[in-house]
This record gives sequence, structure tokens and C-alpha cells, in this order.
Amino acid sequence: MLKLKRVSKFYYNKGIISSGFSKVNLNLNIGEFVVITGESGSGKSTLLNVISGLDTYEEGEMYINGEETSYYDESDFERYRKKYIANIFQNFNLINSYTVYENIELMYNLNGITEIDIKNKIDDILVKVNLYKHKNTKVSKLSGGEKQRVAIARALAKDTPIIVADEPTGNLDSNSAKSIIKLLYEISKDKLVIIVTHNYEQVKDYATRKIKMHDGKIIEDRTIKNIDNNISYIDKEYGNIILKDKIKLSFKNTFNIVPKFLLLLLVYSFITLAVIFEYTSNLKSNYYDTFNGYNTYFGDSSDKRIVIKKKDKTYFSSLDYEKINSISNVDYIVENDILINNNFTLTDDSIYIWGSVKDISTYEDGVDVGKLPSSFDEVILLGSPDEYYLSLGEDILNKEYSLIQDSTGNKVLFNKLKIVGIKYVEEEIYKGSSIYVSNSVLLSIVNGINKSYSTIKYNLNDITIDQYSGYDIYPSKVIEKGKVLLPDELSYACKNYICNNNTLDILVDNIYYDTSISLSIYNTYNDNNIEKLTEYKKDEVYNKIFINEEDYYSLFERPSYQSSVYIKDVKNVRETINELEDNGLDALYIKDTLVDYSAEVRVFVNLIKFIVIVFALLGLFFISYFIIKIILKSRNIYFSTLRILGARKKDIKTLIIFELNNILNISYILILLFFLLINNNVIKNAYIKDLISYLKFTDYIYLYIILFFISLLISIRYSNSIFKKSAMSAYRSEV
Ligand code: ADP
Ligand code: MG
Repeated sequence: MLKLKRVSKFYYNKGIISSGFSKVNLNLNIGEFVVITGESGSGKSTLLNVISGLDTYEEGEMYINGEETSYYDESDFERYRKKYIANIFQNFNLINSYTVYENIELMYNLNGITEIDIKNKIDDILVKVNLYKHKNTKVSKLSGGEKQRVAIARALAKDTPIIVADEPTGNLDSNSAKSIIKLLYEISKDKLVIIVTHNYEQVKDYATRKIKMHDGKIIEDRTIKNIDNNISYIDKEYGNIILKDKIKLSFKNTFNIVPKFLLLLLVYSFITLAVIFEYTSNLKSNYYDTFNGYNTYFGDSSDKRIVIKKKDKTYFSSLDYEKINSISNVDYIVENDILINNNFTLTDDSIYIWGSVKDISTYEDGVDVGKLPSSFDEVILLGSPDEYYLSLGEDILNKEYSLIQDSTGNKVLFNKLKIVGIKYVEEEIYKGSSIYVSNSVLLSIVNGINKSYSTIKYNLNDITIDQYSGYDIYPSKVIEKGKVLLPDELSYACKNYICNNNTLDILVDNIYYDTSISLSIYNTYNDNNIEKLTEYKKDEVYNKIFINEEDYYSLFERPSYQSSVYIKDVKNVRETINELEDNGLDALYIKDTLVDYSAEVRVFVNLIKFIVIVFALLGLFFISYFIIKIILKSRNIYFSTLRILGARKKDIKTLIIFELNNILNISYILILLFFLLINNNVIKNAYIKDLISYLKFTDYIYLYIILFFISLLISIRYSNSIFKKSAMSAYRSEV
């Protein structure tokens, strides 16, 4: 059945060639109980390893059932081992962390045997080797003799025609040794048994043939008993481990050795966290890059802002606003959109607070310093504690400030405002403070802005005075409706310098509307009479044309044609825009209009960022691979044992991949739980909470895929490294 023709085995060791055995001729058959003896170093183990297909040979030819094996590649020898060879070793070669039962079950798993009666078969075998009572004992707790019985039981489960035993009794006391040899003999009457021993006495009752080796050569080959040549064996072809058993085994191996599991979990949690933080920081910085955009028309380019106009070009009614407010993603509406396109400064000439003006009625929070407003001229500020003037706190309260419109050369829109409260908010991007004012202040500000964006002309008789002449209209409470008060200097345009009862037309024109009013001049003023005629002081009236307050507002107080909607959730902005459009509105998402002048520079920055990330990932990969390899070192024996038992390299590879993937899954789930706790404030960490707010569901999937590939690479690299060598040398180097 097994024939060796002038087979030689050489070892190459650092350039030195030594011989394991040379030019061995042998012909071995089923039914034989072959005993090989010889002094230490004579080549017995080497011969057995070659016969077992665990080591290669360099010269000659080995035949199995007449088939040449010299051209066999690795996978051919894998099949050869699976089909023909069961090994028994001096040091047992069992999985110590498994029970007796599991060690034998493993053999069936590796052969792809999945029948339900495996349990009964194993029980039968355990009875045969007298180990039934130790069925569920861990192998590490057994005596040497018992361990070797487990090894024999495993060989029985493998059920191959050839059993190869290398000094199976070498570690046993003489009684155990005797019973092991007897057991081997009993189970192997229809098999070929090849046994190496120092102690021929122990086996001489059973041996059918004795071979003696010396210095790599067979010096004696003697038949002791004739055997029945008619014994045949049933040729069985075994399968490979099936997926279900791979998964089962990988789980068993994951938790099997607790310290190893915990160490791996630690390393994997570290990898997982490192990848998540790198990824998320990147998301965050990309998000902030989108604010680099720039838009000259829209002062507030928040990603929550949508500018709306009615498609029919009419102004907004309160009914329109009600409808818009009922859209679920709408947070609030700024009706006078013109307000947020402007920046304002609140100042008393020593303090300057820059920001945007907002309607106090949309404010729902409290204040950190001072109080909420209680009269129309009181305002509160909302802004960053890092801003110098805001950080002064109490010191800026209860003084009188003017509100200035920044874009129009510091035009004062409102006088005598009082700051009564401050609310501090942390801001990533400094957008100025929010100045919350009462509705009446807001209205006069809107009027002021409308006025500042308007072209104003005055027609007096045939003379047109435009705004560039420096004349400006002002509201007065004491001037009658329909009347106007001019400075003396303008009387040149009146007949005989007498203006009374002449008509002044005021024409207002801006992007939204044009309007005019005809007023009757009732007087002219100079420094001497101004304080009698109006409520203004003589040093306040330079170049002013005074008209009645209501007339004044009728020129500039217009309903809103353009408003802004602020949304709650930026992610759903497209849906919200569609809903607005469905409601008869033109909607413009401000963020879409931004022009980013730094985009080209950022292509370069992003390239560098990408390279840094790649290097970080590589570094992470090598560090973790190095640590994992050290942790898994204790498992090398396990994997090379599986190899010796006949498992294919690729099956072991998948076992390793699965096992490490189990660890990845556990650490990923643990970290997701950790994030969940942080998100619900069970664990308080503002930094991590902020970071994870950038992660969407799909990001978690991408992250898992990235981690999956890192783990896969580690597994593949590791399994390649342990199987660079032949099965036997891999095993030898670990024992
Ligand atoms: P035995 O089992 O009879 O004690 P071995 O088969 O283990 O002997 O060894 C046979 C010869 O091969 C010895 O000279 C030994 O030094 C050599 N040998 C065994 N294994 C190796 C190896 N891995 N590398 C180099 N030489 C080896
Ligand atoms: Mg040996």
C-alpha cells in the first residue's frame, strides 16, 4: 500500500545540508504492525513525518496505492493526510483547552462529517478507549496515559488505513505504556500501524515486522509474523469542515481562553476607536470646510437658513406664515429677511457689540447675566463668552446704546437701547452676537433699513433735490399729518424765498416698491426756532427735513416680500425645500449659493490629509498586527495541530478570519453601546458627544466595512505567517 523507493530527506540549515535519512526502500501493507527502532538521531521521526505527508522529501519516490507522490503540491498532501494518515505523537498533540469529547468532535468537524449520530459514535469510541467517564473533562486535567488514549480515540475517529505513532509511550510509565500498545494493537487489525519506539520489549508481542535504523539508513528489516494478505480496507474520501462548524469553532475559540479573549478585545477596541475618531474628525473638518463659502448678498449663511419668496410675488400674510410654520422641519421664521442680511453694532462709543438683530418674541431661553427685557427699549444679547465685550457681563448692562447698521457707513437706526441681559453660548464659528429687540424697535429698524436701501428724491416746485445733496427726511411727533418743515437753506427753491404752502413731493424707490407723498410746507426752521417747532435739539437737526411720523412710516413700512425659514434638521433640508415649493414659494437654500474661493487650496490640503490618514491607518495596522501576533502566539500550536489532523490551510485561514471578526463585532457593539450611553448623557463627555453627532447610519456601515478589512488583513497576514513553513516544521517550532 505504501512504498518508498530510494527516498532521501535533507535538511537545509543556514547553508549547511544535513541528512534526515537517505535512500530508504520500504514496502508497507495493510495488516502490518511495523515497529521502527534505532538510537536517537537515526532518522526515525524524519521517516515518519515524510510517510505522514507532514514533511517533504527531496529524492526518490513514495507511492501510495501505486500512485507517485513526488509531484504532490501542498493541497495534494492535505488530501493525502486526510485520507490515509492518523498521527499519534509522544507529546499527544491535543487541544488542552478542549474537553475529551470536544477533541474528538473536532476530528469529525474537520472531516466535514455532520451526521447527527456523531454523539453516539464518539461515545462508542470513548468506551473503546476506556475514557467514557472523562468525556467532559478538560484534556489538561488528564494523566499522560489518559491523554494518549484521547489521541488514539481521535485517530479512531479519523478512521484512516494508516496509523503513524512516533514514540507514543515515550512520556508514559510502563503500565500505561503497555495498555496503550495493546489498545493500538486492538484497534488496528485492519490497518497499517507504523510505530517508533526505543523499547522493543514493549511491543514485541504485537509486532509483525521490525525495522532498525542507524544513521539515516535501514540496517535491519525483518518480518516477525506473516500477515493475512487478503485484508482490505474501505477506501473513504472525507470532506472538509463545513461553514456551520467553522462558525461554531470560531466562537468556541473566541471565548475559550479568557485572558487571550480580553487582550484581543482590548486591542480591537483600540483599533475601532482610533478608526472611528480619525473618520469622525475628518467628517467634522469637512463639515466646517463648507462654511468657508462666501456670499456677498446674504449676511447670515447658516446651513439652517432657507430664503423664501411667494411665487405670485405678493407679500406674506400671517396666514402664509401659519402655513409655513406647520411644516415639521421649520424651526422659526424671520419675517423681515432684510434684518439677517445686515450686520449691526450696538455701541456707546466705548463698547462695540457686533452681530445680528432678532425678534425677542422668538426667544425662549433665559439669561445668564441680568434679566429678560420688560420694556420696548430693553434688549438682551446672546453670544460667545470668549467675545471680549460680552465677557464683561454686568459691566455692559443698563447703559444707553445706539444701534448702527454696519453696511451703510454707520447709520444710526435706533437710539437709547438698554442691554438688560446676556445669554452665553459656545460657538464653533464666530458669527457675532444675537441682539434680541422688541417688536417696535424691530419695525423701526426695518424702516431704517428700507430707507437706507431706497433712493429718495425731493421735488420742490421745479427743483429736484436728491439724497446726495445731504438732505434727509426725519419723523417728528409734533408735525401735523400732511405737513413738512424745511431748513431755511432750502427756501432758495421757493418763490420769493417764501416756502409756506408750497408743495414738497417726496419720491421713494427701492428694489421692492416705489412710492411718493405730497406734503404742504408749513414753515422753515433755523437754529433759533427749531426747538420751538420740533422735539429735536438744535445740534441734532443739520440738513434734516421733518415730516409727520405716520407719513414717514407710510413711506418705509412695507409688508415683507422676502422671509427666511430656519430649519431644525439640516439633514432633511431637501424635503423641506420641496414642501415649501409645494406651498407656492420660491425657496433658496443659502448654503447652495456660497462661493468657496479656497476650494482649490483645499484640494491640496485634502490630498495631504488623505496621505496622513493612509499612513495613520498603516501604522495602526502594523502596531495592532504586531500585538495581535504576540497574543495569538499561544494559539499557533492549536492551528498547526489542526493542520496535522488534516485541515486545509484555507479552512484554518477562515477559522482565524472568523475568530478575529467575532472579536471585532463584539468590540464594535460595545463601542456603539458606549456611544449610546454618551448620547443619552448616562456617561457625560461633551467632546465625544459632539463628535458622534456627525455620524449618520451610513457612516456606521462604512466604518464597519473599514474595520472589517483591517481585521481581514490582520487575519490573512497572521495565517500566512504561521503557515509559511510545512505543517510539521510549523508545529515543531512552536513546541
Ligand atoms: P530520531 O527520531 O531517530 O531521533 P530524527 O529523525 O529526529 O531522529 O533526526 C534525524 C536526523 O535529522 C538527525 O541528525 C537530526 O539532527 C536531523 N534533523 C531532524 N530534524 C531536523 C531539522 N528540523 N533541521 C535539521 N536537521 C534535523
Ligand atoms: Mg524522534
